[in-house]
Formats: sequence, structure tokens, C-alpha cells
Amino acid sequence: MSSNISSGAKEIARAVNARECSAREVVEATLARIASVEPQVGAYLSVLEREARDGADALDARIASGERFPLAGVPLAVKDNMALEGTVTTCGSKMLERWVAPYTASAVRSMLAAGAIPVGKANMDEFAMGSSCENSALGVTRNPYDLERVPGGSSGGSAASVAAYEATIGLGSDTGGSIREPAAFCNLVGFKPTYGRISRYGLIAFASSLDQIGPLTRNVEDAALAYDAMAGFDPMDATSVDRAVEPTANALREDLQGVRIGVVKQFDTHKLGNDIDDVYDRALHDLEALGAEIVEVELPTADYGLATYYLIAPAECSSNLARFDGVRYGLRVDGNDVAEMNERSRAAGFGPEVKRRILIGTYALSSGYYDAYYVRAQKARTLVARDFAKAFESCDLIAAPATSSPAFRFKSKSDPYSMYLMDYYTIPMSLAGLPALSVPCGWVTPEGGERAMPLGLQLTAPLFAERALLSAAHAYERATMHASKHPMQIAEVTR
Ligand code: GLN
Repeated sequence: MSSNISSGAKEIARAVNARECSAREVVEATLARIASVEPQVGAYLSVLEREARDGADALDARIASGERFPLAGVPLAVKDNMALEGTVTTCGSKMLERWVAPYTASAVRSMLAAGAIPVGKANMDEFAMGSSCENSALGVTRNPYDLERVPGGSSGGSAASVAAYEATIGLGSDTGGSIREPAAFCNLVGFKPTYGRISRYGLIAFASSLDQIGPLTRNVEDAALAYDAMAGFDPMDATSVDRAVEPTANALREDLQGVRIGVVKQFDTHKLGNDIDDVYDRALHDLEALGAEIVEVELPTADYGLATYYLIAPAECSSNLARFDGVRYGLRVDGNDVAEMNERSRAAGFGPEVKRRILIGTYALSSGYYDAYYVRAQKARTLVARDFAKAFESCDLIAAPATSSPAFRFKSKSDPYSMYLMDYYTIPMSLAGLPALSVPCGWVTPEGGERAMPLGLQLTAPLFAERALLSAAHAYERATMHASKHPMQIAEVTR
């Protein structure tokens, strides 16, 4: 077989389309890998063995009859907040533990149409609220680089599965950093396109004005292939953008000649510690060596990002999650009347972080407080977007850290605020709806740790400039190769 579990999507698709190997063989190799490492990694909430085999056989039959697919036979991990018809779609919550999706999300459907084969539904923080996967009510996912550390979140299962070669592409969703942060923690490329580029139809909503689907992959080219398959207008999503999509995978550059890269004055990396600061310094030098011009830009409202996000996201979540009332979806705990049934169902179905957000959001939206909190947060959001627009007058892309630290140990962020701080660098881009990605940029050994852990460089582009963004990330990746190796022997790279 000319492709194996460590091949990229392009190579797998080439081999399967050329019938050098079958999609069924790729799936069998992936299922065998899953069986051998899942006990340690725990990336999936469900493995779709039967569906993957049936899907592969159906694809092989179509290829035998002459059809070709851009992602033929590529094993796909689907975050468990995306509907896939006939599969349990839990959102990492007891509320939906047994809910079977009656239809397939548009983004997943696009990946299927391109020939990808879903092999499992990936673990996540409950309703995508969190930065470590520790808020999942249904399972523990470990970082394949060090099993004592978190994989990041909320798309932690998707990240861990791809880093451990249990899938080639992982689908994640990013509301304030949930693709970029786990990508950084697991040495992957994690790409959040412009808000509205990829349909949200069939993505269980957390904060609808921020949620965006995107890929987690082991290289930029795979991210571009997945983006090309999923991006585009969908009449089923009212916020989907009706605007032509330029293909990206065939336009990836090898240098950065003529590209102005902005470094944000307010994102001072000195405060992250010397070793982390060194990694980001080195990354800027590498960008310069590729021909980029580094310029300083300002985001004066950067420090307001977290406070703004943590009003808007809970406000939207309190409204979106009102539908889980014990009547229509998921868990029901009976009571003496409807109100008691609602109350008991929600008390039993939601975990502590989800309840906290619903309470904060309901408060921020309540009459008398609405103007003071929600409206002001919306105004601050506009200012953040304006800051970016201004910054992009003097640069083409912005380079920043993806996270303020590498992957941390389980239970080490016990108060919610310290967990929220993980998103300091990713939230401003989400508020402004901008396309942004994290690309591997080097290693640090955390204090008290024995193993070097990866860090991510976050690149951000103006609205709809996905092509320039992926292209620059590709040039950087090719020159640095920080992501050339992933943990094949899980037990060896961990204790
Ligand atoms: N960690 C952030 C939160 O808890 C972002 C989550 C996300 O992007 N889905 O809300």
C-alpha cells in the first residue's frame, strides 16, 4: 500500500484515486491504529467502525466506475457538536448523550462529497465551552505528546486524534479559539476561516455570531484541501456568506517576498517567560528570512477582548441552550409539572461550566442590565474590529502567539478565570470575524515538566483573505518544519 496512517490527505487521495490502495485499506489501517492508541489518548466519544467500512466500500465502488475525489479515502474525525445522520451527536454533554442526529451538517456533508471518510466523533468540552477538554461530561482526552497534559479545547478530541494518527483531518469549531488553541497544544495546523465562510448548518450552536467550523491537520496543505472542500455559500445558514471562494490548495507559496507582517505592540511576549519569548522571536526571524517585512501595529482594545467575549458568548449561549428543555431534544427528567420537568432536566443535563455561562448570559441580557453589559460589549466588539481594520492598513498579516503557554497539566486551571485567560490571544480575532490559524513554531519544556511541548504561531488575515493566510503559513511551515514529527509511539513519547 503506497499510503499509510502518517500520509497527508493529498497523498492518500492520490493513492486511492489511482487505485494503488483502496479506501477500505486506509480505513482498516486507521481503525487498527485507533484500537491500539485509544486506550491512552481517548480522542473519540464514538468510533464509527461500521459506517467507515461501509463508506469506504461505497467510495471504492465509485472510484472503480471512474469517479475521482479530492479527499478520496481521507480518514476524518468529526467534533461531536456536528450532526452526522444516524450517529449519536453528544456535544460532550449528558444532555445529548443519547441524541441521534437526524441529518448531516453541511460542512460534514461537503467533506463526505469530497471523499473523506468519518471514522469517529471526537470528544470536546461540553457545548464547546472550555480550553482543555476537561469540561467534557463524557470522557477524558489526553495530549499525545504527554498523557499527563490536556490536548486543549474545546476541539481537543479532534486535535488529539490527528496528532496521534487516528485521523488525517479533524473538524473543529472555533468560537473564541477552540480550533487554534488545541492545534497549538498538539503541534498541528488549526484554521478558523472568516466568519460565515463555512456553513454552520448542523453545528450545534454555542455563540452563533462567533461560531465557525474549520480543520485541524498535520500540515497546511491538508488544511487548505479541507477548506476548499467546505467553504462556500449555504442557503441553510442565514449567516453564510454569498461570495466567491478562491481555491487555496493550488496557490500555496514557498516564500514571503513582499508580505508585510504586523506584530502587535500590545501582545508583548516578554511576559510569557524567556523560553517562550525566544520561540516567538525566532519565528519572527524565520518570517523575515523568508522575505517578509516585519512592522509594528497596534491593537489598543486588545485587553478588552476577554471581557467582551465573556459577555457576548454567554449571552448567546443562554439563548441557544434554552431549547434543551427536556421536551424536544435529549435528556428528560420527569417532574410534577412542566416547570419542574424543565428544571430537573436542565439541572441533570448540564455541567457546571455550562450552567455558569447560562447564568451569566441570562443576567447580562435581563432588563435593566442589557444596556450596561450586552450593548456595551457589542460596542467594544465594534472597536476591536476597527482596530484590526486600522492595523491592516499597514500590514498584510498579523503574527501573534496562539496561546500564552504550552499544554498544561490536568486540573491545573481550577478557577474559571485562569482557564478563560488561555484565550487572550485568540479572542480578538474571533470578535472581529477574521480568518486566523495556528501553525507549529517550536518547543519549550514547561517548568517541572520533562518533555518538550509544542507552541503555535497565530497568523491572522483581513476578512476573506484565506488564500494569503494559508499561503504564508505554508511558506513558514516549509522553511521551519516544526510539525514534521508526531507521536507514533504514544507510550514512548509519554511516561
Ligand atoms: N475557550 C473559549 C470558551 O470557553 C473558546 C471556546 C470555543 O472557541 N468554542 O468559550
